[in-house]
Amino acid sequence: MIDCPFCRIVARQSPADIEYEDDAVVAFKDIYPKAPVHILIVPRRHIPSILELTPQDAETIGRCFVAARAIGEAKGFGERGYRVSVNCGPDGGQVVYHVHFHFTAGRRREG
Ligand code: AMP
Ligand code: ZN
Repeated sequence: MIDCPFCRIVARQSPADIEYEDDAVVAFKDIYPKAPVHILIVPRRHIPSILELTPQDAETIGRCFVAARAIGEAKGFGERGYRVSVNCGPDGGQVVYHVHFHFTAGRRREG
């Protein structure tokens, strides 16, 4: 996926501040953080959006949540907690069409 910014990060063709990686997942700092800790968790494999998710993607998506837990523990939020959220499609505010999980932590969020 040559036109995908997150595939380029996964392939190390674009710079990113990588916080975590394993065989299924890469996680890196959001360039425009909306919380004291704002990390994007992306599958290595290009899945465009939750809107196009299939049952074959279930393992990969599950691995993103397992990575979220590892990041939470490593950052010291294992007990206090954090938010993991996904923007899905145009009305869901999705801008980058490589599925990604926003890991945000470090402040109480209203709403
Ligand atoms: P979304 O609206 O869920 O598609 O969010 C896309 C997110 O990706 C935004 O929070 C952007 O700040 C972030 N973002 C876009 N490009 C990059 C990049 N090259 N490196 C890190 N974060 C990025
Ligand atoms: Zn991609």
